[in-house]
Amino acid sequence: MGNSQSNNKINPVTNRLAQPVGLMRQKYVLGIIDPQYDFMRGGSLEVSDANDIIGPINKLRFILYDYLDVFFSQDFHPVDHVSFASTHNEPVLTVKKINQIMGNSKQIHFEQTLWPAHCVQGSRGCSFHKDLVILKGDQVFQKGTMSNIESYSAFGDEFANAYENTGLNAWCKVKKITDIVLVGLATDYCVCNTAKDAIRLGYRVHLILSCVRGVAPDTTKTALDTMSKQGVKIYGDVEDFINANQQELEQTN
Ligand SMILES: [Zn+2]
Repeated sequence: MGNSQSNNKINPVTNRLAQPVGLMRQKYVLGIIDPQYDFMRGGSLEVSDANDIIGPINKLRFILYDYLDVFFSQDFHPVDHVSFASTHNEPVLTVKKINQIMGNSKQIHFEQTLWPAHCVQGSRGCSFHKDLVILKGDQVFQKGTMSNIESYSAFGDEFANAYENTGLNAWCKVKKITDIVLVGLATDYCVCNTAKDAIRLGYRVHLILSCVRGVAPDTTKTALDTMSKQGVKIYGDVEDFINANQQELEQTN
């Protein structure tokens, strides 16, 4: 009798060892890219329907409060920023070839789309929209803070962050982040460049369509295609993201 009982009993030790061990636990961070007044309705560089992302982003934060660290990126330009048409006295949307010597004596070349002045340091347009939930523990990374270099990516400039490094990568490393969930503005510029940098730096990247908006339909389509090809996981809305990642999210806590 004793024998048959012990034969039928599941050995908890063996059972536990049968589970996969040594897998790296996933840890997610929510990256809210540039949700600033100048990109919202009535702003100097208004993105169509940008205000519509605020509700879904707040909802995502509310549902996943216990499971997500959060960072914001903030476009934070001096008045003479290289991306402003006014800096060069040229029309908005001109694509200008720029050659310049950087502090390390290295000469760099890049093509800069010229925008209306936006997100000037200290201006209202530079502030985060008041309807967006911002909590004490949220981290803010400012970018485009120097006159002579553009940083669309929340990690820094397009030269692998050699001239402006916002510190986002180091912060993610300390927090042992494996997955970055991107939302915000704009899909075809700052969101896309943040995604590309994140992939280059070894993170898994998720993007939720209901929580992003693009400047123009053609560039937005190209950006989504590029991100998808690079391995970014794209979801329709907050529910799609949560359903697809529920198990991994639960294991993070
Ligand atoms: Zn900018």
